[in-house]
Amino acid sequence: MRPPPMHYTCRACGWSKTVAPLSDALGPGDFYSACPKCRHTPLEAQRAAASAALGDWGQSVERLWKSLR
Ligand SMILES: [Zn+2]
Repeated sequence: MRPPPMHYTCRACGWSKTVAPLSDALGPGDFYSACPKCRHTPLEAQRAAASAALGDWGQSVERLWKSLR
């Protein structure tokens, strides 16, 4: 099972990044415990919408799925 994409935001400098891990084996680049720009901690982390992370590809799959039903 893939972990959900996470959206990280730094309140101090405005840095933000959406991280969508490709597998459940998390690498060092897939997780942020402090802001990489200003070292502010903690970061705000919230679950990003899967469709936003997948973009157009996710929308096409959704359309295909609806046409099959
Ligand atoms: Zn920051």
